Amino acid sequence: MSQQTLCPECQVALILSDDTVEGEVVACEGCDTELEVIAVDPYELALAPEMAEDWGE
Ligand SMILES: [Zn+2]
Repeated sequence: MSQQTLCPECQVALILSDDTVEGEVVACEGCDTELEVIAVDPYELALAPEMAEDWGE
């Protein structure tokens, strides 16, 4: 089973697998933007925050 949701950036329909969890980051197939799963019932996506360049240790 899978669920469909819309990319908040380009509105393309994305299919999320049923084991997608909240907080997971997925890449949009349409615009290649990284999207964070902010809710799973139903699935809702938001633009993932840019990773800081000095994130590492
Ligand atoms: Zn997109």
